Amino acid sequence: MLDAYQFVIQHPEMIRESISTNLQGEIRRAAEILCQSQMNLALTGAGISVESGIPDFRSAGGLWERYDFMEYATISAFRANPEKIWQMLAEMEDVVRRAKPNPAHKGLGRLEHMGLLHTVITQNIDNLHQEGGSTRVIEYHGNSKTLSCLWCKRQYGLDEIGDQVPPRCTCGKVLKPDVIFFGEAIPPRALDESYDLASSCGSLLVIGTSAQVAPANTIPGVAKKAGAGIIEINVEPTLLTSSVTDIFLQGRAGEIMAKLVDEVENLMRQE
Ligand code: NAD
Repeated sequence: MLDAYQFVIQHPEMIRESISTNLQGEIRRAAEILCQSQMNLALTGAGISVESGIPDFRSAGGLWERYDFMEYATISAFRANPEKIWQMLAEMEDVVRRAKPNPAHKGLGRLEHMGLLHTVITQNIDNLHQEGGSTRVIEYHGNSKTLSCLWCKRQYGLDEIGDQVPPRCTCGKVLKPDVIFFGEAIPPRALDESYDLASSCGSLLVIGTSAQVAPANTIPGVAKKAGAGIIEINVEPTLLTSSVTDIFLQGRAGEIMAKLVDEVENLMRQE
C-alpha cells in the first residue's frame, strides 16, 4: 500500500488502474473461497445500509452527530426518560421506513438463493436483509418492526401503534422498540446460534462493521479460530483488518458486493 501511495503522487491514472486490477484479483479470490467453502456466513453492520440512506454511527451529517448514542441508546436512559429517547427514535424510524435494500443486501439474498450463503448475522435493526431476499437472518440486536412494554410485557406490531409519539401501551407506559439498547442482553438464541455457526463455518463475509461493539465483534475471531476464511468489505480498514481478515475488499458495500456476486456467478457457470 505504501508503494501505491507513492505512485498516486506521481501517476494518479496508473495507480488507479493498478488498484482496481488488484481489487478485481482479490474479488476473484474471495469468490473462489465462497464457491469452495462448505458453509458461508455473513456478519453485517450499519455500513451495509449506508447506501440505503441509513447513517452509521460515523457518517458525516448523520443522526449520531446530533444525538450522542451513549446518551440516547442505553437502556437506563430509556427507562429514565422514554419521551426524550423517542425524539431520536421517531427520527430514526422515519429514515428506516423510507430505506430500500441496496445491491449489498440483494447480493447476500442472491448468494443464499444460489446455495452459497447459510445465514446472515446482522447487527442492524432495519429489516433490509429480509427485504433484500435473505430468509435466514439472525438479528443480533433485535428488529424495529415490533415494540414492547417494559412494564407489562405486551408486544405490538408497528402497524398497531399509529402515529402517536411516543407510542403508549394500553397500560399507559411508553413502548420500546424491540431493538437492543446498550446495557441490554443479546437475545440468547441469537447469541447461541451465531456462536455455533461461526464455530463451524468455512468462510465469513464481514460487511460494514467497525467491530467496536461487543459481543458481535467476537464473531470473526471465533470463525477464524475454526479455520474459516475471513473476507471483509468496508470503506476503510477496521480493527479486524490487520488481525483476522484474510481478504480486505475496500470500497462501498453495494458496489463491491455486486462485483463479488457477479464473479461468483461467472465461476459457477464455468463449473
Ligand atoms: P458502526 O457505525 O460502528 O460502523 C460502520 C462501519 O461501516 C464503519 O467501519 C464504516 O467504515 C463502514 N461503512 C460506512 N459506509 C460504508 C459503505 N457504504 N460500505 C461499506 N462499509 C461502510 O456500525 P456497527 O459496527 O454496525 O456498530 C454500530 C451499532 O449500531 C450496531 O449495533 C448496529 O446495530 C447499530 N446501528 C444500526 C443501524 C441500522 O440498523 N442500519 C444504523 C446505525 C447503527
